[in-house]
Amino acid sequence: MPEGDTIFRTATVLRRALAGRVVTGSAARRKVVGGTVKAVESNGKHLLITFTTDGEDVVLHTHMRMQGQWHVYRPDQRWWFAPSKARVVIRTDEYVAPCETPPVVELMTAREIALHPVIPELGPDVIADAFDLDEGLRRLRAQPDREISTALLDQRTLSGIGNEIKNETLFLTHTWPWTKIADFDDAELRRVVLAARDLLRRNRDGGPRRSRFVLDRRQLRSVQERRGLPCYECGTLIDVGFHPNEFRKSYFCPKCQQPPQSA
Ligand SMILES: [Zn+2]
Repeated sequence: MPEGDTIFRTATVLRRALAGRVVTGSAARRKVVGGTVKAVESNGKHLLITFTTDGEDVVLHTHMRMQGQWHVYRPDQRWWFAPSKARVVIRTDEYVAPCETPPVVELMTAREIALHPVIPELGPDVIADAFDLDEGLRRLRAQPDREISTALLDQRTLSGIGNEIKNETLFLTHTWPWTKIADFDDAELRRVVLAARDLLRRNRDGGPRRSRFVLDRRQLRSVQERRGLPCYECGTLIDVGFHPNEFRKSYFCPKCQQPPQSA
């Protein structure tokens, strides 16, 4: 499932293919043909492509949720999916970039982006070089009664962490998924956020997502989707649990990830 690492990688690939090039064709609502691709950026799981046109710059926003994927081809290359499934296509002389079944596609001016219900509210982008750790910690601390699991997934708190990175991060830091933010001291909270950042950044170059850096490709994750299988550290069977008002599950090791002493 796309998380911040996937979209960061997508932005890198699209930037190399499209940045600075004139758009010769597009299947988007507002016209960008004749404009130039000015920037390709990711913020968490959101991808933003800015076009310079005659008037105001316009920005194409895509968000993949559970499915959807950008592709890059040479103009004469056969696509790996049915062209009828492309909701956006950006054409330049050198490359064609279609986006396959994205759930969110919006073309907006800079002014419209400022009024967008999601983008201006996003928390600091965890994978970014310029990640603002202090602001991320401040936003976590503003929700003392919240469980760390759901707080990490809230894109207004931190941008880019999805369920798999969350689960693996909590295992690596030996954090019980139901721990309230208030029960962390500053060093612990910082360690959790930096562990998530480290995982996202280690996975930003593509390939299967991994949190265990071992040769056996069946052992790339510690807990994610490993319910009933033995923990690689202690042999206890991995368990799964739920959070109120959150459909995404927490996979965890009941021995390595215990409730805080005070709880
Ligand atoms: Zn364990």
